[in-house]
Amino acid sequence: MAAPLAEFVHGNIRLLGSSLAGEETYIVAPELNLAFDIGRAQRETLGVDHILLSHGHMDHAAGIAYYFSQRMFIDNQPGHLYAPAPLVGAIQRLLRIWADIDGHEPPANIHSVEPGVDIPLRRDLIVRPFEVNHPCRRRERELIRALGYTAIEVRHKLIEEYHNLTGPQLVELKKQGVQITRRVEIPLVAYCGDTAAGSFLDLDHVRNSKILLLECTFVESDHRARARAGHHIHIQDLHEIIPRLNNEKIVLIHLSRRTALSAARKLLERELGSDLSERITFFMEHRRRGRRPRPGEPDNGE
Ligand SMILES: [Zn+2]
Ligand SMILES: [Zn+2]
Repeated sequence: MAAPLAEFVHGNIRLLGSSLAGEETYIVAPELNLAFDIGRAQRETLGVDHILLSHGHMDHAAGIAYYFSQRMFIDNQPGHLYAPAPLVGAIQRLLRIWADIDGHEPPANIHSVEPGVDIPLRRDLIVRPFEVNHPCRRRERELIRALGYTAIEVRHKLIEEYHNLTGPQLVELKKQGVQITRRVEIPLVAYCGDTAAGSFLDLDHVRNSKILLLECTFVESDHRARARAGHHIHIQDLHEIIPRLNNEKIVLIHLSRRTALSAARKLLERELGSDLSERITFFMEHRRRGRRPRPGEPDNGE
């Protein structure tokens, strides 16, 4: 049963992928050459060079070995996986075990990620990892928290006082070692992976990113305790969360397949009012064109 594919476009940012709680989550930004989580390594993930892993739960991480092996088959560069530091050793062991089973060990670049330490992807693009509120494993006494990631565009703008200078004058200043530009960061997409609400929502690059990918796993009113126990967000938590956020678009992911999207949308409008519904959307409502549910088929599953 393949998960449906969604495509969400805002300005020049395109997000392609699928996200259903417990089944599979991966969100690809093809123009940024990255994917948030790998899911089960569907075709869409194989074309990007950078995979940002939020945590080790199977619905987000199952495709790691397959991604690297397929990259080799389609003759791409090995690709890069960025993973929370405590998981790196286990991921390397997993790839070695797969090599024993498969008979072949594809090349793989695995990078250890620490919250707050930027990942440079291009001259004009960095990714900033941050800790979210989704403890996912206790190893000995260590509590391993999941990570979120913000893709940030970096621009170098001419400092205002030099605006009237000519090209040659600017070149001359540069030669003298004068700093004529300032660095400007434009947060494009913040991906929070699986998480309950937490202080990470107050980080500037998260609350100001153009698009916020935020999980909302539970919507039924009797599921609040389940949401809390699993460190997930319940639709009623959004009352407290949304006023803190400046994002142009808030895209809700990780809804359970159990809940029909039409029902979830109605609940969202009841909870937050229809005036917010332009700004807040469920990712899976943006089913890619050409794949419509058949009569009698649930509207968020195949
Ligand atoms: Zn999950
Ligand atoms: Zn999880």
